[in-house]
Amino acid sequence: MNIVITGGSGFVGSYLCENLINDGHKIVVIDNLLTGSTENIKQFMDNENFIFMEHDVQNHIEIEDEVDYVLHFASAASPKAYTEHPVNTLKAGSVGTINTLGLAKKHKAEYLLASTSEVYGDPLVSPQNEEYWGNVNPNGERSMYDEAKRFAEAAVATYARSYNLRTKIVRIFNTYGPRMQLNDGRVVTNFIVQALKDEDITIYGDGSQTRSFSFVEDTVDGILSLMRSNEYDVFNIGNPNEFKVLTLAEKIIKLTNSNSKIIFKPLPSDDPKQRKPDITKAINKLNWEPRINLDDGLKITIDWINKELIRE
Ligand code: NAD
Ligand code: UDP
Repeated sequence: MNIVITGGSGFVGSYLCENLINDGHKIVVIDNLLTGSTENIKQFMDNENFIFMEHDVQNHIEIEDEVDYVLHFASAASPKAYTEHPVNTLKAGSVGTINTLGLAKKHKAEYLLASTSEVYGDPLVSPQNEEYWGNVNPNGERSMYDEAKRFAEAAVATYARSYNLRTKIVRIFNTYGPRMQLNDGRVVTNFIVQALKDEDITIYGDGSQTRSFSFVEDTVDGILSLMRSNEYDVFNIGNPNEFKVLTLAEKIIKLTNSNSKIIFKPLPSDDPKQRKPDITKAINKLNWEPRINLDDGLKITIDWINKELIRE
C-alpha cells in the first residue's frame, strides 16, 4: 500500500514507519518537525519506499501518487508541547484533520486517526471504556489539545457518514519508551532524566493522581492490529495497569539506584486525577493486549535515556 503518515517523524509515528516499511509498504511522512526529529527516521531517508515531506498539516496537502491509507498522527502531544504551541495544536487537530480527511476522500483511501485518552478529560468513571463521553473543560488550559482531538473525532465520524469513508479511531493512553524527546516534560522522561542525574524528582500535586503506562511497542502493536482489522470503529489502546505518580517516582528511583529526593510542586490545572483504559473491546475484536509490564518497559527506557544523556 501507499501510506501517508502525518507526524511520522515523531515518537509513535517513527515506530509505525519502521513496522510498515518492513512489511513492504511505501510511506510518505508529512511532518513540520515541531516536536519530531529527522533523527527518528534517518534510517529510512535513502529508502526508495520512503518520502519525507516537511509540511504543516494545517495547510492544504497535495499528493499526486495514489494513496491507499492515511494515518493522522501529527499533533503536539505532551502537555508541555501543546502549552508551548497552543494554536498549532488546535489547528493540527481541527484543520489538520479536515485536510487529511480531504486527502483520504480524494484518493478513496482508508483513514486512521490518532486520538487520545484526553477525550475522557478528568474522567468520572474508571476504567474508561469507549462508550464514556468524558468530562472535559471546554476552555481550560488543556482544551487546545483535548477539544481539538474531540473535534477531530467528530470530523472523522462526519466524513465517514457523509462520504462513506472507511475510518478508524485509536484512543491512545500514556505511552512511553525509547525515542521520546528527553525534554518533552512528560512524567516518565522527566523522572528518569532527574533520577539519572541525581536531581530532585518533581511530583506535581501529592502524587496520588494515577496513570496507566503502555510501552511503545505494545501501543504500536495495538495500532497496527486495528489498522489491519476489519473494524471501522473507536478503540482504546493502552495498558490497564494503573499506578499512582508517586509509585512511578519510587519505582524509577529504585530501578536507577538514584540518590534523588522527591519534591512536590503545584498541580497544573485540569490535570486528570485518574486514567485507566478498559481494553476489553481491543482484546475481543482485535485480539490484542499489551505484553510488557511497567518494570520491564522502564528498564529498556532507562537504558536508552542513559545512552542519550551520555551522547549529549
Ligand atoms: P510526538 O510529538 O513525538 O509526535 C508528533 C509529530 O507530529 C511530531 O513529529 C511533530 O513534529 C508532528 N507535528 C506536530 N504538529 C504538526 C503539524 N501542525 N503539522 C505537521 N506535523 C506536526 O508525539 P507522539 O507521542 O508520537 O504522538 C503522536 C500522536 O499520538 C499524536 O497525535 C498524539 O496526540 C497521539 N497520542 C500520543 C500519546 C502518547 O502517550 N505518546 C497519547 C495519546 C495520543
Ligand atoms: N507529572 C509530575 N511531574 C512531572 C511531570 C508530570 O508529577 O515532572 C504528573 C502530571 O501532573 C500528571 C502525570 O504526571 O499528573 C502525567 O503527566 P504527563 O505530562 O506525562 O501526561 P498527562 O497524562 O498528564 O497527559
